Amino acid sequence: MKLVVERYGDAAFATLASELERAKEGDPLRRVTVVVPRRHVGLAIRRRLAAHPPGIANVSFLTIGQLAGELAGGWLASCGRRPVTPAVLGEAVRAVLSGPEAGALSAVAGQPATARALAQTYRDVRGSPASSLDALSTRGGWSAEMARLLRALDRELASYYDDVDLVAAATAAATAATAAATAAGVSVGPVLVYLPARLRPFEVALLEALDHVTPVIVVAGATGDPDADTPGQALVERLSEKPADDAAFAGPVERAEWILRAPTADSEVLAAVRYLMSKNRDGTPLERMALVHSGTAPYPRLLHDVLVRAGIPFNASGIRPLAATVAGRTLLGALELPDGGWRRDDVVAWISSAPVLDGGRPVPASSWHALSCDAGVVSGLDEWQERLADHAAVLRDLADQEDERRSLFERRASECDAMATFVADLSTRLVPPSGSWTEWSRWASKLLGDLLGGPVQTADWPAGEVAALDEVKEVLEGLASLGDRRPGAAAFRAALSAELEAAAPQTSRFGHGIMVGEIGQLAGLELDTVWVLGMVDGAFPGRPADDALVPDAVREACGFPLRGARVSESRRDYFAALAAGRERVLSFATGDQRQGRKLRPARLLLDSMTDPDSPPVFARDLEQQEATERFCTMPSFAAAVAGDLGDPVSPDDWDLRSLLRWTEAGRDPARHFAVDAALQDGFELQRGRRNSTFTRFDGRIDGAVPTSPADPGGRVQSATALESYAVCPRRYFFSKLLGIEARVPPEDVERIEPLERGLLVHRVLERFISEELARPETQRIAPGEPWGEPGRERLARIVAEEFSDFERRGLTGRPALWATDRAAIWGELRHFLREDDDYRAQQRAVPVAAELSFGHNGGEWVTVDLRDGRQVKFRGSIDRVDRTETGGLSVLDYKTGKHVKEEEDPVQRGTRLQLALYGRVARQIEQSHGPIDVHYWFVGDRHSRRGRYRREGFTLDPEREDRFEGVVQSLVDGIEGGRFPGNPAHCKGCDFEGVCPPDRERSWERKKADPWIAEYVALAEPS
Ligand code: SF4
Repeated sequence: MKLVVERYGDAAFATLASELERAKEGDPLRRVTVVVPRRHVGLAIRRRLAAHPPGIANVSFLTIGQLAGELAGGWLASCGRRPVTPAVLGEAVRAVLSGPEAGALSAVAGQPATARALAQTYRDVRGSPASSLDALSTRGGWSAEMARLLRALDRELASYYDDVDLVAAATAAATAATAAATAAGVSVGPVLVYLPARLRPFEVALLEALDHVTPVIVVAGATGDPDADTPGQALVERLSEKPADDAAFAGPVERAEWILRAPTADSEVLAAVRYLMSKNRDGTPLERMALVHSGTAPYPRLLHDVLVRAGIPFNASGIRPLAATVAGRTLLGALELPDGGWRRDDVVAWISSAPVLDGGRPVPASSWHALSCDAGVVSGLDEWQERLADHAAVLRDLADQEDERRSLFERRASECDAMATFVADLSTRLVPPSGSWTEWSRWASKLLGDLLGGPVQTADWPAGEVAALDEVKEVLEGLASLGDRRPGAAAFRAALSAELEAAAPQTSRFGHGIMVGEIGQLAGLELDTVWVLGMVDGAFPGRPADDALVPDAVREACGFPLRGARVSESRRDYFAALAAGRERVLSFATGDQRQGRKLRPARLLLDSMTDPDSPPVFARDLEQQEATERFCTMPSFAAAVAGDLGDPVSPDDWDLRSLLRWTEAGRDPARHFAVDAALQDGFELQRGRRNSTFTRFDGRIDGAVPTSPADPGGRVQSATALESYAVCPRRYFFSKLLGIEARVPPEDVERIEPLERGLLVHRVLERFISEELARPETQRIAPGEPWGEPGRERLARIVAEEFSDFERRGLTGRPALWATDRAAIWGELRHFLREDDDYRAQQRAVPVAAELSFGHNGGEWVTVDLRDGRQVKFRGSIDRVDRTETGGLSVLDYKTGKHVKEEEDPVQRGTRLQLALYGRVARQIEQSHGPIDVHYWFVGDRHSRRGRYRREGFTLDPEREDRFEGVVQSLVDGIEGGRFPGNPAHCKGCDFEGVCPPDRERSWERKKADPWIAEYVALAEPS
């Protein structure tokens, strides 16, 4: 075997060309085979050789696997053996781990991580000499257990073949002293092995066997870096069976022409793409340039996004696995739902990540998310059915109560029904078969079709997603070949996941557009510009973790390949990549904005910065380094936008740079040509919020007059809705006019929400009083008569029933916290009963109504006359009305929140309208001519004022009613006038804190003197 060591790059190519010419022996049509490290390298060399006289004919460019396939693939297939796919290996691992060979691993045999680790170890050591496995076995203990497992895997896979079997079969064909050997030599002709990346022992054996029937010439690559050349030297020693000639590997290492320091990966990628496009404009074809990285995030995705957005052609592989495509996500996501217990957040995340179909149409993911939150679904198929049904019933009740929103509530109720049906159907479809892999494969294919539809539904999908869908279907067909074993759900999912880790199909071809990918793909290519991105410490060279099953120390002793050797291979890939380019650029980012950490440049980059015969450059030197001819520094994203590395690459990029230059020249950004209406609004917003007048960006709705509460055809109001305008007009605007609601996903509910707690207490007290009122009048409680034991028993029964209803609806949070809350609520209610005894004794009152509603369920609403002659219609529900012995009424409104000190103002500057309104309504309904007392009863405030909880209110009189009407007029005026300022006095706990500008307090102080909102300011902040 002839062995030539040559430097990567032009020197290696020139050697290949001359060896090829020699191998032809003057016969241009003589068959020669060139073994290349990767397919695309073969394509590139073919083009390069063909471009120069005398061209090439009858030369095959094959990887060593393809060569072995030509020699023996047909034979293996004819023996009935099938290829080892990731799923086949996974299934074999599962079988071994579930059998007696699992040994020390049996305790963790069911863990997916164990199966993955064993499969990887098997792949690593596969093809090693039998003596290595023997050595592992004789070490005893854990090592011997591993040897037993690896041998068991060999037996499991005996009816399949992998690259080791293929190459071994080819070796056998080549060594056999038969016509087949001669035929092999004749068929492939002389074999030239070009820049082998890594030849494993069985591949070396094939070359040695071929060398007996045809000339074999190996052109090995050298970089000049001792670490990077370690694998190459080992290969040479193995092939030549003597120590490598150090001189052949010596020489200066490749260095970059220049280096870029950028603040973030985003700026780095933008600068790199701009630079390459400027080279393209100067005449360098796109396919003569490459953008490479170590394969770590965020570069693959970032490059893909920038190039796609700019419409720049590129070819790339391995940007995302099949599992990340729509088809992969849909199938794997669906299969995981039952194991996850049908968690609501899993289901919502799944339907939000893919166009999953329901009745031929994509499911409305965001609306289903909101409705399932409102229904309180957390997990479990029963909850999906019961809680959605309950919520649909609530919505239908609301539809009956509110005529003007009937269709909205009915539509939502129907969506709840549809969602419940969808989940039920899906759970049925996800009941797996019990049979063989073939049945599972058919079942999963049908499921995929049901979920994503056929050609009609995928017609608008991007080409890459359609290709990925086809690939996933093929993967499923491939799983059918795993035989007659019954896989079970976990094994099927593991096998599918393993298969879907394969790269999604490329939709571009090598040689078209910029080459994008991992750095190892460049060895053996010849390009004009190579740009290496992401050269930070830890990524270059990457350091693989040691193997927990067969660590490197054991591997070294037994003669297995070392994981740690990959560090040298990474260094070799780096130098080989630099040798592929006429111009080489390295870049690194100083910060990782996604993880919020600083980054340091890689040692290899620092070495490239170091001039020969100069002291080494360290990371701290680069921190101080000014820009030079070889070092370009970019301090910020703005600098990247303004940067002179090249022109912008997309219309957005152009506009951004132009705008930056415009503002740097001191001109008004709003007058820039690229500033569209949306951006103009942004500038106007900034200006508007900074000045002292009240603008449309502060809640001034000019021209679009909102629906007035006094509109005769408009909605019937609740007192609390108008109160919310008084608390903060902007909050009213968001919640009542725009209908925005905050939602806490039920799975995030730690303890019962204050709103639900209030509803629970109200519900208990309403039932307690209603049951009293349902008794014959003569048997009802008398003024001054305590509730006593019967009352306490009734209360306990109602409380138990309501507690269990709230628990069933998933509204009570974590059990431990609920235990505390339910004890506290029960304590409050018992205390209420004692206080009620005192109250009725003092007032000489008895209940006459509970939850006295008006304006609901088609009932008559009440009106409040405005001073301009119009009316506002109100609806509501009064918690309780008692009649006193003097013929007057006592109107009570329970409050479960914290007690707030009452002011003299009966309507508390508009924030408490209920009492005055309810007093008027009670008088009207109960036909009372006596005094009307109205009170808030702070049920949850039992610890205040030395154990006496509070009841606060007043007696309704003409003066207070006048104040009530005046304030209602003011609030209506504010709403009709489109005045919705944010009042920062009540921001704490407001649902819109994240939406409102953070400087709202300063803004309020600056603008509240504007006459436009004088009426509201006079109400909210009386002097
Ligand atoms: S955060 Fe403050 S200003 Fe904004 S809506 Fe809520 S209460 Fe009003």
